[in-house]
Formats: sequence, C-alpha cells, structure tokens
Amino acid sequence: MMELQKELSKNFAGKCSDENDRLVAYDSDASQVRGTALAVVWPESREDVQKIVKFALKHKIDVVARGAGTGLAGAAVPRNSIVADMSRMNKIIEVNEREKYAIVEPGIAAAQLNLALQKCNLCLPVEPASQSVCSIAGMIATNASGLRAMRFGRMENWLMNAEIIDGAGKLRNASAEEICGSEGTLGIIVWAKLRLHEAVIEKSADLEKFDSLHKMLERADALKKNAGVLSLEAINPIAAKIMGLDSCYHLLAEYDNESGALKSGEMKKAKALRIGLWPKLASAGFSVIEDPQVGKEKIAEFAEFINASGLPFFAHIADGTFHVLLKPGQKSMLNALYSKVGALNGNVSGEHGIGTTKREFADAKIKNKIRRLKEKFDPEGIFNRGKII
Ligand SMILES: Cc1cc2nc3c(=O)[nH]c(=O)nc-3n(C[C@H](O)[C@H](O)[C@H](O)COP(=O)(O)OP(=O)(O)OC[C@H]3O[C@@H](n4cnc5c(N)ncnc54)[C@H](O)[C@@H]3O)c2cc1C
Repeated sequence: MMELQKELSKNFAGKCSDENDRLVAYDSDASQVRGTALAVVWPESREDVQKIVKFALKHKIDVVARGAGTGLAGAAVPRNSIVADMSRMNKIIEVNEREKYAIVEPGIAAAQLNLALQKCNLCLPVEPASQSVCSIAGMIATNASGLRAMRFGRMENWLMNAEIIDGAGKLRNASAEEICGSEGTLGIIVWAKLRLHEAVIEKSADLEKFDSLHKMLERADALKKNAGVLSLEAINPIAAKIMGLDSCYHLLAEYDNESGALKSGEMKKAKALRIGLWPKLASAGFSVIEDPQVGKEKIAEFAEFINASGLPFFAHIADGTFHVLLKPGQKSMLNALYSKVGALNGNVSGEHGIGTTKREFADAKIKNKIRRLKEKFDPEGIFNRGKII
C-alpha cells in the first residue's frame, strides 16, 4: 500500500494526500459509517479524473467520488479506496437565461449555484436541507430532493444530461435516468447540464397544531390544492415534545403567495424551526436518520406504525417521505421498520439513497438496475464497491 501511495503522490503532485490527519476526514460521511481512505486526490480537470481512473484500473483499486460528504447513507465511505474529492472542480461554465439552463462542474455547492443565479432571476429549485454545502454531483448521484419535492420533484427532473468518466477512463454521456440515484457506482460526474426555474420566493407560511393525525392529514390534503404551496412538513408529537413544542402534530406549510398567516420574520422563524429539526433531535440523541417513503394512501398507517414504535418523525408529508429518527442503540428496530415499508409497498429511501446503510433492505429492482448499468459503464467494477449492490 505504501508503494501505491508513493506512486499516487508522484502522479498527482500538489493534488494528493496520504497523510493520516487529512485522510481521517475522508473515512466517513454524515452517515457516521466509517471506512478507510487509501489516499485522497483533488482533481482539477476531467483529465485528472481520467488519470485517477486509469491508475485505479492498473492497480485494481476502488475509487470513491466525493462531493461535500453530507450523504446520510454511507455512499461516499471508502473501503481502502482512492477518494476523488471533487471540490476543486466547482465552476459555473454557462448560464443560458433564454433557454433556462446552466452547465456546471460537479463540485459546485447548490447554494453557490443558486446565489449566482439570483442575478438572472433563475434557480435550481431542488432544495435539500443541506443545500448550503452539498454538491450538485452529490445531489445527482443520490437523486436528491428535499423540502419542496411536492412542487419541484427531485434531481432527475432537473438534470438534462451529464458527462462522466467511466470505468475505462473514457468520457461519455449519461442520461438522468441512468445517473440519478447511481451513487457513484457507474462513473465520476465531471459536467452537468441543469434545467432551471424562475427564482422561487417564499412569501408566507403557516405553522398549525392538531390533536389528531387524521385532522393533520385532512388539512395537508386541503392545502395541496393551494397552487402557491411550496412545502408541507409534518412533525409527530414525539418529535415535537423533544423540540420543546406542544406535544401534538404540527404542520408547517410554506407558500410563494400571501395565503399564509406568517410573513417576513415570523415566516423565517418557522422555516428555521424546520431546518433545525434534525440537528436538535440529533443533539437529543436521535442521530440516526432514515428516509422511507410510502404511497399517499399508506401515509396514515405508516405514521401510526412509527408512533407505536415510540420514535420521533418529521415528514415531507405530501410525497410520503418520512424522516424517522433513532438513537444509535435502537438500530435493531430498523428490521421492523423496513419490513413495514415492504409490506406497504414503499421505498426504503425517499431521498438519501441506499449506500451501505440500506443495502440489506433495498429491493431487487433497484439492485438489478445498477447491475445492468454497471455492465455498461463500469464492467471492471472499480467504482464505489459495496454500495447499493
Ligand atoms: C443536515 C442534512 C440535511 C439533509 N437534507 C437532505 C434533504 O433535504 N434532501 C436530500 O435529498 N438529502 C438531504 N441530505 C443528504 C445529503 O445532503 C444529500 O444526499 C446530498 O445530495 C449529498 O451531496 P454531497 O455533495 O454531500 O455528496 P456526498 O455525500 O459527498 O456523496 C454522496 C454520493 O454521491 C456520489 N458522488 C459525489 N460526487 C460525485 C461525482 N462527481 N460523480 C459521481 N458520484 C458522485 C458519492 O460517491 C456518493 O455515492 C441531508 C444531509 C444532511 C447532513
């Protein structure tokens, strides 16, 4: 291994490190799963990425592409791998205002892109709660969505085309259907063309309380008919109590029209409450966050199931994605949780991806799709071993 590390340092002078104090930051991501990075390389061009892939092929080493490391499924965790940290490839190549698209390098953060787009009154409307740091390629690779998924969907709805370096070191196109949700297993994204939307401006919000699940869901259904609704976030009484709120159901609605009762400062306070949910619940010990998704007609049954398990949740209630929170010592409850998701014909992941943490629960359809695409893009299997499949 020392020899390999030396050769890497020679090949990538000034763009590589194998020092333990640097590597420790790359052994994990936000999932808390730990692995081992052999070395980290910071490519600055697609040619650098090609060189990394060819080096890995020659030495039969695994390569893990890494954006900002905010992933929650352990998908960027190395296994004696070379980590390609894409943060130096972070330019906006083109913004076409008339045709509403942007071409970007992979490592740009979503918030950085949206800040630049403000001056032409455009945006990428997919808004994960981690948008201030997470990278565009990380969002593509996990098919990220977020608070406004009910209105704007997920990355697959906004990616027009991507260019990747495949498992032979060749530059090639990958469609949204192929690359979104592939979690770094097919190649390294080096270029992305994104569809844009007019700037989305939240103008008002509501934060309402309910003494029953039924009433809260009824209200959420009614709000879905409001054309200005941007997001609908539900909080169960267990999570609310931990947050120091009244122990009942809460529903937070955000609008791009004036229909909500909360405006300006009050509206921002409500949004901050929502963004702060997981950090606060994590600091109370619930640091494991899951993201199962169930169909609309199963939402009530699934919510009752989680309540009966005594677990806190908050949910993008319009599309049935639940953030169920557990303490690290409660992980044995995951079997029952995902059995229930299976019984309800749900998905093990609504937005965070499969990675390593949900591999054992993921259904055969997803795994077969990745196996098929791997034959096409990475037949030697050098990308992100042990993820999804
Ligand atoms: C506080 C918090 C809130 C979050 N909220 C949301 C949310 O609302 N919605 C949501 O969907 N997610 C959310 N996430 C999860 C996470 O932010 C997203 O999955 C995000 O898209 C990951 O981006 P990243 O740049 O950090 O990717 P990383 O964690 O670095 O990597 C994630 C995956 O992308 C792959 N990848 C990265 N770059 C490339 C590349 N250039 N080519 C090929 N593959 C690549 C990696 O190999 C890995 O498989 C949240 C996370 C945190 C910590």
